[in-house]
Amino acid sequence: MPELLDRRAFLATAAGALASGHASAATPPNVVFIYCDDLGYGDLGCYGSPLRTPNLDRMAREGMRFTQFYSANPVCSPSRAALMTGRYPTRAGVPRVLFPKDTTGLPDSETTIAQTLKTRGYKTMCVGKWHLGHLPQYLPTNRGFDEYFGIPYSNDMTPRVLLHNTEVVEQTATLETLTPRYTEQALKFIERSKGSPFFLYMPHTYPHIPLGASARFRGKSKAGLYGDVVEEIDWSVGEVLGALKKQGLDNNTVVMFSSDNGPWYQGSAGRLRGRKGMTWEGGVREPFLARFPGRIPKGKTCGGIASTMDILPTLAQLCGAAPPKNPLDGIDIWPMLSGAKGEIEREALLYFDDVHVQCARWGRWKLHLSRYNSVAYSPAPAGGRINFTLKQPELYDLIGDQDESYDVAPENPRVVAEIRTRIDRLMATFPEPIQRAYTETRNRTAGTHAVGAVTRPAER
Ligand code: MG
Repeated sequence: MPELLDRRAFLATAAGALASGHASAATPPNVVFIYCDDLGYGDLGCYGSPLRTPNLDRMAREGMRFTQFYSANPVCSPSRAALMTGRYPTRAGVPRVLFPKDTTGLPDSETTIAQTLKTRGYKTMCVGKWHLGHLPQYLPTNRGFDEYFGIPYSNDMTPRVLLHNTEVVEQTATLETLTPRYTEQALKFIERSKGSPFFLYMPHTYPHIPLGASARFRGKSKAGLYGDVVEEIDWSVGEVLGALKKQGLDNNTVVMFSSDNGPWYQGSAGRLRGRKGMTWEGGVREPFLARFPGRIPKGKTCGGIASTMDILPTLAQLCGAAPPKNPLDGIDIWPMLSGAKGEIEREALLYFDDVHVQCARWGRWKLHLSRYNSVAYSPAPAGGRINFTLKQPELYDLIGDQDESYDVAPENPRVVAEIRTRIDRLMATFPEPIQRAYTETRNRTAGTHAVGAVTRPAER
């Protein structure tokens, strides 16, 4: 009776899907994704910071906290491209930061989370910093969002315009009231969207510089203006969570919180080495909190490796939407979020800076292959800033040595070889300019360098 068996198999699969959270028949959950700009791994109370973040700490207690969650890039635009598309930014056409003079953005060939959820009837809004192209065709309202409110790029770029959809509503945008105004827009969206599944993407402008906090928070933290700004973002998260509860949406809404890259001039990367603009862990490892009452276990910490590229495939499954046609680099991490698995075996995770692959994470290991000859956002050396291959690759055991202090490559040649093979295999799937950059870097080896240090021109 093959037909009967097929039917049984189908029913078992459907029941399994519902039980595992991949519901297609039930009302799809609302999604709120709150994204900070340049917030460090160590900047929240629940990650060991002295800053007061009671709402985010409560979110961690009521949901899951990840300790190895990665942005796909250490700067703003590419990390957002990865979040929105589930793909490496070097694959998605946004390898570097976009400026107001640029006329490009996230290519049309890419599909965003918003476009993906739209196929399931979601109402969608983006509130905050978009940074995937500021010309009308690249703005959120042309990339799957019904509505947009925010500064379309970084707040240190000019002109500093505040947009509603594609119209300028304020120039030059006032920094001090940004967070409360973003929050007001988010709350209004939640209120008018109840009754329909919705996706609220809330990429805050802060704590990217120049900093601004409202009178209610200014001077109130014990960590200067940076602390005030983070504590105001925490307040905003509390307002959003409160609105969901007030509207009776609490139990059918998944709320996620993270940041695009590590801390810049201020902020804390915790014990992690490096900051924004570097592929050391401090540049790319981020806080990640996820709360979904009854579906994500309370108060659990997950040490499994996860990435912003995983958000699209995870939400597509959770919300019953078909994933985009483009091949994805992210994976569905619902098995970790639901508590079914502590970690998921996955292909090596690549760390890109601009077009250059510099490191790869595979299991407990991280291999550094190449590095720039200067620190990001510092004066370039004579001859320009170039990416070069380390004379000897460096291997760090991120379980035993999370701050990348002890190079164990000489003791683990087979691990080094295995990760190299995986990088080579993956790189062959990237667009030609990215492959070319990889080849060019391999042909450019630094003469000598101290372990972990940036080689100075005089030493080469
Ligand atoms: Mg950033």
